[in-house]
Amino acid sequence: MSNIGIIGGGIIGLSSAYYLTKAGHQVTIIEQSDLKDGCSFGNAGMIVPSHLIPLAAPGMISKGIRWMFNSTSPFYVKPRLSGDLIRWGYHFYKNSTKEHVAKAAPALKEISLLSKAMYQQLAKELPFDFGYHERGLLMLYQTKETEHEEAETAALANKQGIEAHIISSEEVQKLEPEVKVKARGGVYFPGDAHITPQSLVNQLMTFLKEKHVKFQTSTTVQDFVIESGKIKTIQTDQGDFSFDDLVIATGSWSGLLAAKLDLSLPMQAGKGYSFTIPNMEKNVRTPSIFLEARVAVTPMMGNSLRFGGTMEITGVDHSISMNRVKGIVDSIPRYYPELNVPMPKVDEIWHGLRPCSPDGLPYIGRSKKIANLVLATGHSMMGLSLGPGTGKLVSELVNQEKTSIGIDAFTPERF
Ligand SMILES: Cc1cc2nc3c(=O)[nH]c(=O)nc-3n(C[C@H](O)[C@H](O)[C@H](O)COP(=O)(O)OP(=O)(O)OC[C@H]3O[C@@H](n4cnc5c(N)ncnc54)[C@H](O)[C@@H]3O)c2cc1C
Repeated sequence: MSNIGIIGGGIIGLSSAYYLTKAGHQVTIIEQSDLKDGCSFGNAGMIVPSHLIPLAAPGMISKGIRWMFNSTSPFYVKPRLSGDLIRWGYHFYKNSTKEHVAKAAPALKEISLLSKAMYQQLAKELPFDFGYHERGLLMLYQTKETEHEEAETAALANKQGIEAHIISSEEVQKLEPEVKVKARGGVYFPGDAHITPQSLVNQLMTFLKEKHVKFQTSTTVQDFVIESGKIKTIQTDQGDFSFDDLVIATGSWSGLLAAKLDLSLPMQAGKGYSFTIPNMEKNVRTPSIFLEARVAVTPMMGNSLRFGGTMEITGVDHSISMNRVKGIVDSIPRYYPELNVPMPKVDEIWHGLRPCSPDGLPYIGRSKKIANLVLATGHSMMGLSLGPGTGKLVSELVNQEKTSIGIDAFTPERF
């Protein structure tokens, strides 16, 4: 049994703690916040083996530039004179190619399927309900241009062995018995699933505490002392800590923390918003994405309905842009014409910072430079989906075991 420290208590840190505890280790999570909220709580809860195309893909640059001049658009890069942003943008640009997508898709498929299998197991073995359902994912489109793009996505998925069906507007409506849908058509991915994320993370924390995982909250890691190629001491604002092995799972903050170890981990926060309507009388049944608006819609526990969207590359910034939230609200009647959703108040809007690597692939692996360090971060739009799979891989890496899947594509020191 080893003494393992995990920095960061989001879905990646918690999942890692779960599998490390199962493997018999003593685990401590060091977390700067009070773990009442954060990126792993209010997200759209989708488990998405369908998502084979990383954020860095052909067409994203031109779309991004077009969207930048519209204050209600779903994607925005805040222009800043920041060396980190310029370097990140350069790598994003270099990776927005067909070749990168061809290499990334099989790697994303492997980790997504591993993670979904872990979720299926968790739904059976955890002593609490976190709203796990396998109802698939519906990608809704309204224009011919998007229909064409989505047909390509569906073809890529089917080629990779991920089932995708192009369906008509009538078939879309059959999947939604209670809510009227307006769409030219859709692509249905029957293999996707969803959960209620805050229900999972809150109950998982309680469960882990019962399993003697220590939670050192309101504690910010500030620096490290390295000796003989290993992290000897972790310096925090609450004193020093030492562990046999350390896992960095600090989401959007990981680039800054890795820099303290002289590791290059390009990372930008991709801010997004969500709001949740409780007790829907008639609810959406199948998690859906409005493709043109880039809005995610997920039915959750308590017969609630969550809308989430926007990707603002703004740095670690917690301000709320009501214009972009309005962009989400305005899109709803275009797809669900009979659903009347009022503009939420500021305190009803949740925001989270997605940890975005510039090639859209996570950083998962043991550091080549620091012997007792494992990195697990940078899951962008898919951290919830890939959480348990990543946690399992972290436990295997710490145990020096053969990993369940190949992880070369996720090598942390690739930039
Ligand atoms: C609107 C929206 C919708 C989304 N929908 C989905 C979805 O449907 N499916 C999906 O798979 N993903 C989704 N995501 C993405 C997903 O939420 C993230 O990828 C995921 O939560 C990242 O988890 P994490 O554990 O890496 O990071 P976080 O949850 O951010 O956790 C990292 C933790 O590290 C802590 N930390 C950082 N630095 C330090 C330090 N120096 N010392 C101590 N602690 C530190 C932070 O406080 C934080 O709690 C969505 C995101 C948004 C914003």
